[in-house]
Amino acid sequence: MGTTRCPAGTAVRKRAELAAFGGTPAVPEDARDLPWPVITEEDRATLLAVLDGGPLVSNADGPTAVSELEDRWAEFCGVPHCVATANGTTALATALYALGVGPGDEVIVPALSFIATGLAPLHLSAVPVFADVDPVTMTLDPRSAAELITERTAAIIPVHLHGHPADMDTVGELAERHGLAVIEDAAQAHGATWRGRPVGSLGDCAAFSLQVTKNLPTCGEGGLLTTSDPEVGERATLARQFGEEMVSGRERDYESRILGWNYKMNPLQAAFALSQLDRFAAYEAARQRNIPPFLARIAELPGITVPTVHPRATHAWHILRFRFDPVAAGLDGVSPAGFRRALHRLLRAEGVPVSRYQVMPLPEQKVFTDRFGTRRGRPWPGGPPPPRASHPVATGIVEDSLTLQRRHLHPSAGELLRQYAAAFEKIWHRLPTVASMARAAV
Ligand SMILES: *Cc1c(COP(=O)(O)O)cnc(C)c1O
Repeated sequence: MGTTRCPAGTAVRKRAELAAFGGTPAVPEDARDLPWPVITEEDRATLLAVLDGGPLVSNADGPTAVSELEDRWAEFCGVPHCVATANGTTALATALYALGVGPGDEVIVPALSFIATGLAPLHLSAVPVFADVDPVTMTLDPRSAAELITERTAAIIPVHLHGHPADMDTVGELAERHGLAVIEDAAQAHGATWRGRPVGSLGDCAAFSLQVTKNLPTCGEGGLLTTSDPEVGERATLARQFGEEMVSGRERDYESRILGWNYKMNPLQAAFALSQLDRFAAYEAARQRNIPPFLARIAELPGITVPTVHPRATHAWHILRFRFDPVAAGLDGVSPAGFRRALHRLLRAEGVPVSRYQVMPLPEQKVFTDRFGTRRGRPWPGGPPPPRASHPVATGIVEDSLTLQRRHLHPSAGELLRQYAAAFEKIWHRLPTVASMARAAV
């Protein structure tokens, strides 16, 4: 080939040159778009079957796509009860409600999560209290949580963030000691395990999301609540249906027995999720093949910390988060945020779609600093908001990390991930350039 006989050739030069400065991107334009979710003919057929045959509401008598999804998800998680809801946020709020959390109760949540984890307590006029996270697993730090427990603490929400289970042993002990309800936020962690047991079976209740970007997606929005407690399951079932009790074979009586909402799942969403669930194990196995070798290759580069797996856990790899340390990379006078900003620009130019996931720790969101609950200042008790320094680990992670989302979930992502790795390596060959960019940026 001409390029190998002529190493100073333009093509070679352009490949080595960073794409941000006019070089050829490491990830070719036409290789970048792996869709998620994967939508097959079976998925389409299953939606049409519901449209043509109904029922189109989930409070219908007899088996529906919704009840079938509930049965299959309960079995998947190894629990007796699953209640489908409109989305993951309503599953979280319904779980809190079904466990008896109410106005003025405090609920401990991690400072690093999706906003819904912090909002769900507020939907019941309970107060979210933010614990810091572990620097390695990035999930709730039980020692930080322990310091926040008061006589008003009613529940704790460990989030299996990025698909990695929270430390459910220590969280469980803490909850037991203080009589707290444990609600797993498993929205990102379908199929992950802790001590060989699936998430969704590890607390008093769990909430999953089927939102279209999650590991088990529907064609829009959906949520699943799992529990081993029949009373909790019963309360959740009433709560999602206006507080009404729907009994098979009996006509709807329109009596609201408890406070309820309309948080039901749509059968079309359920049917699509069922069809995806048929392929979930195969996709999950593909992720376990594709992702660890990619991470191992990136981990060779100085100054990058890749996600790891706790010895008691398996990882669902929903989000891949990389932390960047300029000192370990040998860069003088470069701040972690400056390094991250430069890498953000350079990686995206190479065709690696890194993004920030959470631009601030949850407790710094305006809704919480302004104490904008059901009314400004309610349901919070008096006093100033907790100081920023109370979650230094979450703050550090937000400052110094970037994430990959969605495309790596595709079962055929192996080749794309090899190209991503090549992009990282290419940039790491030009670390002095990265350093001068990072120093110049504000
Ligand atoms: C997606 C998500 C939710 C909310 O789920 P929705 O279905 O979008 O309402 C809650 N918690 C976490 C950690 C999530 O990632």
